[in-house]
Amino acid sequence: MQDIQNYIDGKLVAPSRGKYRENMEPATGMPWSRVPESSAMDVDSAVTAAKKAFPDWSAMPAEERAHWLSRLADSIDRHAEKLAEAETRDTGKPIRLARDVEIPRAARNFRFYAAAATQFFSESHAMENDAINYTLRQPLGVVGCISPWNLPLYLFTWKVAPALAAGNCVVSKPSEVTPMTAYLFSEICRDIDFPAGVLNVVHGTGLSVGVPLVEHANIKAVSFTGGTRTGADIAARAAPRFKKLSLELGGKNPNIIFADCDWETMLATTLRSSFSNQGQICLCGSRIYVESKVYERFVAELVQRAKAMRIGDPMEDATEQGAVVSQQQHEKILGCITSAREDGGEIHCGGEPVTVAGRCENGWFIAPTVITGLGPDCRTNQEEIFGPVVTVTPFESEDEVLQLANGTEYGLAASIWSQNISRCHRLAKGIESGLVWVNTWMLRDLRTPMGGMKQSGMGREGGFDSMRFFTEAKNVCIKY
Ligand code: NAD
Repeated sequence: MQDIQNYIDGKLVAPSRGKYRENMEPATGMPWSRVPESSAMDVDSAVTAAKKAFPDWSAMPAEERAHWLSRLADSIDRHAEKLAEAETRDTGKPIRLARDVEIPRAARNFRFYAAAATQFFSESHAMENDAINYTLRQPLGVVGCISPWNLPLYLFTWKVAPALAAGNCVVSKPSEVTPMTAYLFSEICRDIDFPAGVLNVVHGTGLSVGVPLVEHANIKAVSFTGGTRTGADIAARAAPRFKKLSLELGGKNPNIIFADCDWETMLATTLRSSFSNQGQICLCGSRIYVESKVYERFVAELVQRAKAMRIGDPMEDATEQGAVVSQQQHEKILGCITSAREDGGEIHCGGEPVTVAGRCENGWFIAPTVITGLGPDCRTNQEEIFGPVVTVTPFESEDEVLQLANGTEYGLAASIWSQNISRCHRLAKGIESGLVWVNTWMLRDLRTPMGGMKQSGMGREGGFDSMRFFTEAKNVCIKY
C-alpha cells in the first residue's frame, strides 16, 4: 500500500513523527493507501521553507510566475488520466465526473491565474490639489490554504493558484479524507523543479495540521473551504491574531421552479443539481420549490429519472452515481433520512443503502432520494445533508417562495427556472445568496465573485477578488 508523503521545501518527506493512518476507498470500503498524520512540527518546517522562498518568488516578474503556473497546468493535463483515477478511488465519484470536469478544471485554475498574474492591476486616484494616490497591491507572505474532500484537486488548485499568482508562498492542507491527488500534484511540482518552498503540502487532520496552520505566527492569511462549524472555529482562532480570512462554507440551496420554465432543460439540470457527485457539491440544490400547478408532474418525473440513474462502481464509465465519501458520511446521510421519516416525510425513491455486487460490495452507496411532505422548519429543510437527498415542496406565489428560499441560516446559491424575465430579476434581487443561477446551474465564469452570505461564508473568491484577497493594499499619496 502506498504511503503518501508531505511536500516540504521541494522534497517529498515522511511526517516527522512517522505516523500514518489508512486512506479508504469509499467504493470498496477498504484502505488503498496511507496518509501522513503530520503535526505542528511539520507545519512549522513547511512555513519556514515558505518564508525562505518568499523573497525570490515575490520579486519574480509576474510573467515568469505566470510561466510556472502554466507549466503546472500543462503537467496536470499530461497526467490527467492518472489524476482522474486517483480522484475517483479517493472520493467514490464517477470517473466521468473526475475525467471530464474536475481534473480539467484543476488545470484551468492554474491557466486562469497564470493570466491573472500578468493582468492584475491597481487603482490610482488623482486629486484636484496637485496630488495623486496610487495603491500598491503587495503579496502577503506565507498563506495557508485548507480544502475539503468533495472536489479535492479542483478546490485545492482554486486556492493555491491565485495565492501563488499574487506572489505569495503557500502551505496547503488538503482534506485527510481525500489526500491522493494533492500528493500526486506534489510529485508533479517536484518533477518540473518547481521552486523549492514556494508551495508546501502538509497532510493530516484538522486538529493536528489545520489548527497549527491557522495559529502559526507566520501565516498571514487563511483561505478555507469546508463546513460552517469548522469555519467558525477557524474564525475564532484567526480573529485575535488579525489574519486575513476567506471562508467558503456550507449551503442549503433552493431551486425555484415555475410552471412556465423550459421543462426538459429544467428537469435534466435539476437531476444534475440534485445528485451530481452524490449531492456532495456545496452548490447542489437540496430544497426544490415547485409551483403548485406543476408539482405532481414534477415529483413524478424527477422520481422516475432518479430511479433510472445507474448506481455502480465509480471506476466504470457508465456509472452515474458512485459511493459517498466515507462511512461516517454514509451514516450521517442515512441518519438524516431517518429523521425526515420521523418528521412525516414521504420517501418517493432511495432512502436506503445500496449494495453494488462484486468489487464494491462493501462500498458506501446510497440511492438518490426524493422526499416530500416536510415543513420548512424541520431538520431536513434546515441542515446541510451533503448527500443524494432532496426535498420537494409546492408553492403558490412569488412572495411565498421567496420567503421559503430565504428561510434558512445559509446563503450560498440558488437556481430560478422561469421564462418570465421580470420575475427572474425580481427574485434574483430578493434572494439571500451569493450566487443565483437563472435557467441553468453550475455555469461558472472564473472571473465572477464566488462565495456565500449568512452562514455560508465570508469574502469572495474568483477572478481579481482572489488576487485582492491574497494581497495587501497600500496607498501611496504624493503631493507634487
Ligand atoms: P470540514 O470543515 O470538515 O473540513 C474541511 C477542511 O478543514 C479539511 O481539510 C479538514 O481537515 C480541515 N479542518 C477541520 N477542522 C479544522 C480546524 N479546526 N482548523 C483548521 N482546519 C480544519 O469540511 P468537509 O467535510 O471536508 O467538506 C464538506 C463541507 O465543505 C460542506 O459543508 C460543504 O458545503 C463545504 N464546501 C463549501 C464550498 C464553498 O465553496 N462554499 C465548496 C465545497 C465544500
